[in-house]
Amino acid sequence: MSANEQHYCSCLTIEDLAPEVRKVLQEQVRGVLLKSAKWPDRSIIKIRFLDGEPELQRRVRKVADEWDKLANLTFSFVEHGPTDVRIAFKPGNGSWSYLGTMCKSIPEPQPTMNFGWLNTGTGDEEVRRVVLHEFGHMLGLTHEHMNPTGGGIQWNRDAVIRDLSGPPNNWDHDTIERNMFQKYEAKQIVATKLDRDSIMMYPIPKAWTLDGTEVGFNVNLSDTDKKFIKDNYR
Ligand SMILES: [Zn+2]
Repeated sequence: MSANEQHYCSCLTIEDLAPEVRKVLQEQVRGVLLKSAKWPDRSIIKIRFLDGEPELQRRVRKVADEWDKLANLTFSFVEHGPTDVRIAFKPGNGSWSYLGTMCKSIPEPQPTMNFGWLNTGTGDEEVRRVVLHEFGHMLGLTHEHMNPTGGGIQWNRDAVIRDLSGPPNNWDHDTIERNMFQKYEAKQIVATKLDRDSIMMYPIPKAWTLDGTEVGFNVNLSDTDKKFIKDNYR
């Protein structure tokens, strides 16, 4: 696998928010689910597409439904009125989502989730991989490799920075730091043991690590993903 040709999700975290909003959210930290971003039990989450072909929207909904069935939450797709989550398909803007209830602090009609490289020509497997991953963020899940509870990966920092600062990702230093190396503190999150099969795990080429860690493409929810979301959204 060549990392140079691989799109990575550049996910937004609390640091992307305005200081006032961040302060409020940080005070809400109750604890790889960011506790401050967890939706209240049995929430109905209103979701609207800002653009995208109807066919592509339908495919996204079908995949997102897998999470919806596991969590005791309701994804309600609407065309009008106030929404919690707004999805765009803006090319060249990466794929990302705000974490959990942080979406609610983003003013209408700004997107809270973007699929920068999905279009009607994208294969089913890639749609699955990206949609399950971004909806995982929308449910408050962070990247699995930031899991502080176990298996700390020993990164070859130079190799990671070299690959991700080039195309197609072209990340700047801060984006790389935030998405790859930042770790949450245990008190900020609820986490399982590091789950390499998680949909929230990045593909990791062997050249990026010093300890032989290598992770392929995860395109399905792992058993731990399923159990975790069921346990946390009862
Ligand atoms: Zn991500």
